[in-house]
Amino acid sequence: MSNQDDQFKKVISHAKEYGYIFQSSEIYDGLSAVYDYGQNGVELKKNIREYWWKSMVQMHENIVGIDAAIFMHPTTWKASGHVDAFSDPLIDNKDSKKRYRADVLVEDYAEKLNQKAEKEIAKAAKRFGDSFDRETFVTTNGRVMGYHQKAKDATARLAKSLDADDLADVKALIEELGIVCPVSGSKNWTEVRQFNLMFGTKLGASAETATDLYLRPETAQGIFVNFLNVQKTGRMKIPFGIAQTGKAFRNEIVARQFIFRMREFEQMEMQFFVRPGEEMKWYHHWKETRLKWHTSLGLGEENYRFHDHEKLAHYANAAADIEFNFPFGFKELEGIHSRTDFDLKAHEEHSGKKLQFFDPELNESYVPYVVETSIGLDRMFLAVLSKSLQEEALDNGTSRVVLKLPALLAPVKAAIFPLVKKDGLPEIAREIIDELKYDFNVLYDEKDAVGKRYRRQDAAGTPFCITVDHQTIEDKTVTVRHRDTMEQQRVAIEELGELIGKAVSFRHWIK
Ligand code: ATP
Repeated sequence: MSNQDDQFKKVISHAKEYGYIFQSSEIYDGLSAVYDYGQNGVELKKNIREYWWKSMVQMHENIVGIDAAIFMHPTTWKASGHVDAFSDPLIDNKDSKKRYRADVLVEDYAEKLNQKAEKEIAKAAKRFGDSFDRETFVTTNGRVMGYHQKAKDATARLAKSLDADDLADVKALIEELGIVCPVSGSKNWTEVRQFNLMFGTKLGASAETATDLYLRPETAQGIFVNFLNVQKTGRMKIPFGIAQTGKAFRNEIVARQFIFRMREFEQMEMQFFVRPGEEMKWYHHWKETRLKWHTSLGLGEENYRFHDHEKLAHYANAAADIEFNFPFGFKELEGIHSRTDFDLKAHEEHSGKKLQFFDPELNESYVPYVVETSIGLDRMFLAVLSKSLQEEALDNGTSRVVLKLPALLAPVKAAIFPLVKKDGLPEIAREIIDELKYDFNVLYDEKDAVGKRYRRQDAAGTPFCITVDHQTIEDKTVTVRHRDTMEQQRVAIEELGELIGKAVSFRHWIK
């Protein structure tokens, strides 16, 4: 097993052990690619959602939120192009009977080549030391250039054949590249077919009158169909944005990566409406703004990178992903898309209603262009959880497992312990909780030795442990122990609120 697989397995089992994520309907052996969030998971997820919401809605005068229904009029999905084009190319391996996304097989192949190039670059950087010039090396070293070129050729050909809907060529490409099934190791592939990812359902009591519906595959369309409602009632002026978080459903072909790819998941999307012609300016603005939001959490800037799309979706004129270094490598975490006026125009055509904005400065009406930021809440959860989980060697030769969640996102902010279960210490600990609980999620723990309680909270991700001891009775101070540094300090009980408040304040993190 590779180190990466090993780390990923640890994340999955830790998520279960500490009440973050359970398999859906586990007692019935689970449901594929569907997961439930446990007592800690629900808090972490809520905190991530809130961090996104505040930074989008509260921090921007010209962005407001909505909460649209999951069910939408079926024509919505005709207009948006999802009925005709929301499909992935699938391919089966005849020997292993495993199903894959044909595009992902090619992308993974290209990514492997790029990783080989990175290895060469890292080796050279080590050899040359301070005098190493990456740019020159990458553009002159034969081997690196070869890897990059081969990767680029593969993805460019994939993009071209998918654009032309030439699925036979996608198969030919997979064969030419010699891509084998990771399970059977064989090249015995079926033809490539398109598979629509939307879940269908029915609305209505009797079979004859029931209407065919879809569970929404993205939250964005709920924003588009409400564009005029919000613009008019909120007296919004262009440029302005509408934000929304909520469930989306996709019948994913391959869903074997825990909460990275689920069939029911949550999105956090913002559609920013701009003047036609100004979309590129805003596209770049939102790319940078979103990257800054990610790096504000302190998980390490080196774990993010942009990936500009070569193959654009039917609605886009520019698109990039923010990729994150997951335990299984760099993969898409968020998409930033310049969606042109495609969606609003399509809804105008299908509904017969005008979806335009009268721009008083230009003295004309137009269908706005849209720049979208779209992130999966569950993927963000996985990014945070996997980077935060660390195993640390300690000075005394032992080690500890610690979940270094950003304090702002941690499910429980502080655990309060009486040193012993007597002498009035539990009562004081309860009093502290009764004070802190109005502002923070806190918990009480009196079981086991204090050292063991520290370990338990380290692994659960709690940033502060507060211990009440006999000195507390004398001078109303407690010991605060910090999760990341393991440092301990003596703090007056009345200062606890301020200390925790500072560490978890939105203002402190968003800067
Ligand atoms: P992918 O290429 O990984 O299938 P996508 O490009 O189809 O993703 P978008 O349609 O741009 O994804 O959706 C926006 C965001 O929603 C993604 O960046 C991702 O974070 C999240 N997302 C999409 N599909 C899933 C899924 N099946 N499970 C969890 N999150 C998802």
